[in-house]
Amino acid sequence: MTRKGILATYEKFLPLTEKTPRLSLCEGDTPLLSLRHLGTELGIDLLAKYDGLNPTGSFKDRGMVLAVAKALEEGARAIVCASTGNTSASAAAYGAAAGIPCFVLLPAGQVAAGKLAQALLYGARVLAVRGNFDRALELARLAAGEREMALVNSLNPYRLFGQRSGAWEICDELCSPPDWLILPVGNAGNISAYCAGFEFYREIGRIDKLPRLFGVQADGAAPLVRGFEIDTPETLATAIRIGRPVSADKARRAVEVTKGQFLSVTDDEILDAQRALASGEGVFAEPASCAPLAALRKLKAQGKLPEGIRVVMVLTGNGLKDPDAVIHRIPLPEEIDGTWEALSAALEL
Ligand SMILES: *Cc1c(COP(=O)(O)O)cnc(C)c1O
Repeated sequence: MTRKGILATYEKFLPLTEKTPRLSLCEGDTPLLSLRHLGTELGIDLLAKYDGLNPTGSFKDRGMVLAVAKALEEGARAIVCASTGNTSASAAAYGAAAGIPCFVLLPAGQVAAGKLAQALLYGARVLAVRGNFDRALELARLAAGEREMALVNSLNPYRLFGQRSGAWEICDELCSPPDWLILPVGNAGNISAYCAGFEFYREIGRIDKLPRLFGVQADGAAPLVRGFEIDTPETLATAIRIGRPVSADKARRAVEVTKGQFLSVTDDEILDAQRALASGEGVFAEPASCAPLAALRKLKAQGKLPEGIRVVMVLTGNGLKDPDAVIHRIPLPEEIDGTWEALSAALEL
C-alpha cells in the first residue's frame, strides 16, 4: 500500500466535505515495532507505535493536517497556536504546505532547539512569550477570537479527530486492540483522541472491546495524577510540561471508561527509560515519549504489571528534536590520537 496521508486513508471516518482540500505530507501509517528485548525484560508483549516518524517528527501531524485543511475550507486568513514545541513545528509545516500564514506562541526559553528550528525554518512567525505554556495558550485563544485566525491547538476539534487515526492504524494492523495502550499526557488531547478512536471502531464493529488506557505524566507536572492544577509545572520532558490540561475532563473519562489509570514518573526515570529504549532497541524517542516505558518499568518493579499482556506504547516524538536533554547526561566520545596504535588499543570488545 502506498502512503497517502490521513485524509485520503480515512476519508470515510473523518468530517470531510467535497470542499475540504486533501492536504498531505504523508503523515500517519507509522510502524508498529515489536520491542523484543524490553518486552522480555518486562514479561509482556511490548509494541511501540513509532509516531516520531511522522513528517515533522511527532504525532501532532495526524491532527494538524485536518485542522489546517478545515481552516482553508472555512476561509481562515491565518492559523495560530501556542506550543511546547511540537505543535508549532507541525502547524508551521502544514501552514507552509497549505500556503497560509502561521503564528506561533512559545513559552520563552522553554522549547527544545530542534522544535524551534523547525518552526522558524518552515516560515512561521514565532513569538516567544514571557510566561509558561498555559499563558501562551490563553493569548493564542485571544488572538484567534480577535482576528480571523483559526486556532490549531487541540482545542480545535479537528485536531483530536485526526489524531483518532493512531488508534485506527493500530487496530487495522493488529486486527484487534491491545490489552493496554500507554502514552504520555500533557494537554491530554491525545489520550482523549485514542479513546474516541477506539470507541468509534467498537461502534462500527471493527473491534469488540476497548484497550485499557494509561496516561503518564512527569512528577513535576502531574495535575491528572494529583487531582489539582499546577501553577509552575517542571520537567525536562518539555512536551508534557503542562499544569492545566485543556482536555482534562475528556482524559479522565477515557481512563474511567477503559478502566485505565494515570501514573507519574521522575525525570531520572524518564532519562533511564530513554537510554534503555535507544541502546536496547535502537529507537530514539524524545524524553516525553519515554515516560510510558518508565512507568511500565516502575509497575513491573512494584509487581503490578500482569504477565504476558500485549501493550502498545505510543512513541509520540522523535529523539532528534531534543538532543540537549541527553547530551549532558551521557559520557562524551572518548578522544584518541590519530594513530593505529591508539585505535587498536581502543577496539577492545
Ligand atoms: C504534544 C506531545 C505530548 C502530549 O500530548 P497531549 O495531547 O498534549 O497530551 C506528548 N509527547 C509529545 C512528543 C508531544 O509532542
